[in-house]
Order: sequence, then C-alpha cells, then structure tokens
Amino acid sequence: MSALAKDERNTLCLPADAAGIAEAARVLAAGGLVALPTETVYGLACDASNPRAVARLYAAKGRPSFNPLIAHVPDFEAAKRVGHFNGTAARLAERFWPGPMTLVVPAVEGAVCDLARAGLPSVAIRVPGHDVARAVLAAVGRPVAAPSANRSGHVSPTTPAHVLADLDGIIDLVLDAGPCMVGVESTILDCTGEEVRLLRPGGLPRAAVEALLGHPLMRRPAGRQAREEAPLAPGMLASHYAPAVPVRLNAVSVAPGEAVLGFGGVRPAGSEHAVAWLDLSPSGDLIEAAANLFAHLRRLDESGARAIAVVPIPTEGLGEAIADRLARAAAPR
Ligand code: AMP
Ligand code: MG
Repeated sequence: MSALAKDERNTLCLPADAAGIAEAARVLAAGGLVALPTETVYGLACDASNPRAVARLYAAKGRPSFNPLIAHVPDFEAAKRVGHFNGTAARLAERFWPGPMTLVVPAVEGAVCDLARAGLPSVAIRVPGHDVARAVLAAVGRPVAAPSANRSGHVSPTTPAHVLADLDGIIDLVLDAGPCMVGVESTILDCTGEEVRLLRPGGLPRAAVEALLGHPLMRRPAGRQAREEAPLAPGMLASHYAPAVPVRLNAVSVAPGEAVLGFGGVRPAGSEHAVAWLDLSPSGDLIEAAANLFAHLRRLDESGARAIAVVPIPTEGLGEAIADRLARAAAPR
C-alpha cells in the first residue's frame, strides 16, 4: 500500500525556502546529515569539523573505505580559515569561485577533522555555485563535507526522490530545490606544491585554468610515480597518515613496550603492562570507533610505545572502512 509506504518514511523533506535553509543549517550544526542541492548533484552534507558526524556520513553512504571528502564553504574568506592558499591558489579561488573547481591546499590544523581528510595533511575545498547551498553554508558557519547523496556504488542523485530511494530513514533532512542541473563533477586542482596539478578533470575546463596560469597545466604523474609523489586520488591513498611506530592487527595479547588500540572494552592478555591503552568505543559502537580512529592512532603514536597492538574489530558496517584504514597503517613501508 502506498499509504503504508509513506508512513514508513521518516526523513523530513523541506522546500529550500528561508525556513528550510535555516532548518538545514540547524541540523548540520547539531551533527546531522542533510541532502543538499548543489549545481551538480544532491550532496550528502555534514559538519566537516565533527568526526562523529563524518563517521555517520561514511556509514550512511556505505563506503568501504574513508575517501577524503571535499569541504564546502560559502566564500573565499571562509576557505582561508580551512586551508592555506599560496599566491596561485588565491588567484584561482578569486577567479573561479563560486563554481565547479576544487582546490587541494595544505590544511589549517583543526578546521576539517582528520577523518574527513582521511588523515591527509591537505584538504580539498570548494565554493559551490548554487545559491541554496551557499546560503546553508553561510548559516552553518563551518566547513561542510558533501559527497554525492547516494549509497556507495549507486548513481548520483539529481532529485530529492533519488536521494530518498537510497537514504530514506538513514539521513535527517532533504532540502528540496527541485532537480539539479545535471553537471559534471568539479575539476580538482592540487595547489600543495610549486606547480598546480590537475587531479581530476571536471566542470571547469582545463583551458580556463591554463589561461589564468599562463602555462600548460601539469597532470598528476601516472603509475608508480603517482603513488610515491602524489597519492591523492581514491585507491592511491597509501600515504595517508600512518603512525611512525609499527601497527600490529588482531592482537589477542600485548607484548612489552606496546600500546593498545582497543574496542568494545575488551582487554587482551597483558594489557596491564601496556604503555598506553585507548578504546575506540567502549560500548562497541562502530560509528564512535570511526570518529575516534585517527585521533587515537595519533595519541598512541606519541605515547612512546615501540608498537601499537590493535585488538580484533568487527568488520560489518563501518568496520570494513576501519579495517581498510588500519591495514594501510599496518602495511610495510
Ligand atoms: P566527490 O566525489 O566529487 O565528492 O570528490 C571527492 C574527490 O576529492 C575524491 O576524488 C578525493 O580523492 C578528492 N579529494 C578530497 N580530498 C583530497 C585531498 N586532500 N587531496 C587530494 N584529493 C582529495
Ligand atoms: Mg558519488
């Protein structure tokens, strides 16, 4: 019955008028998940400074790994509170924002949380070319992560109905501004080094960027070199923050000199001798565990331990992404 189907819906859908925009900003500031219209597709938005909200976002999307997310801000002034812009990055920002261009720049510490940056020292920032999106961002006053509002592997949504087909009951609010103009994704430019590099072609044509730079745009180097020099795109993220000390997975006992990364309150044999002990989630909540992952790894890394022993962590839900991240941290380097 369609009436029953309607009753089962519990994600609120509001028109993108002044009241809807204010409510979206309120939900975001409170750590909620909002489907937000952008000029390309509906984005699944959350407060990028809040690791718990970001963990919920990854869980809602069902992503098997923590890809770094783009931080959306209302204008260049707000962008400067999130990342460090050199002269060239500033010229690009002033010329092409708002619009389909994302700039990767060195991150301002503490503005976008580690989890949203997937542990990278850089941050991807964009000022979207959609009035509703910018109005919400201005009202939130914090950077907002917004990957496409669909389950991982599904098609990007261009209407509220598409969003609800995937995420009804899982997210808190849909802000309805009608269908998006179906656009391509943003052009991503790496401005962390001497030369600007094109990481992903997109809505802003390469020629427009080259006209401003006054020379041809460097492409990210391919293959092995890319992984060593510019491991910036999905699947090439081997150089994410990794602890300086070795990481040992699925530890059921603790060796002398080790620190313990725990989960669910479990204390492996020998824990009483651990140099340090931090639990990702004493109650066994995988969203809380994801939110704590990077901060706990850093603290244990700085504890003076000679290695970090990680207890077994369930692999369902966000556990898969946590396992992926920990496997990278434990990989030989
Ligand atoms: P989208 O799927 O359009 O939200 O775009 C996300 C893209 O931004 C992914 O391809 C990420 O790899 C890329 N990205 C996000 N943060 C960074 C970063 N710090 N460095 C390089 N690429 C990034
Ligand atoms: Mg997508």
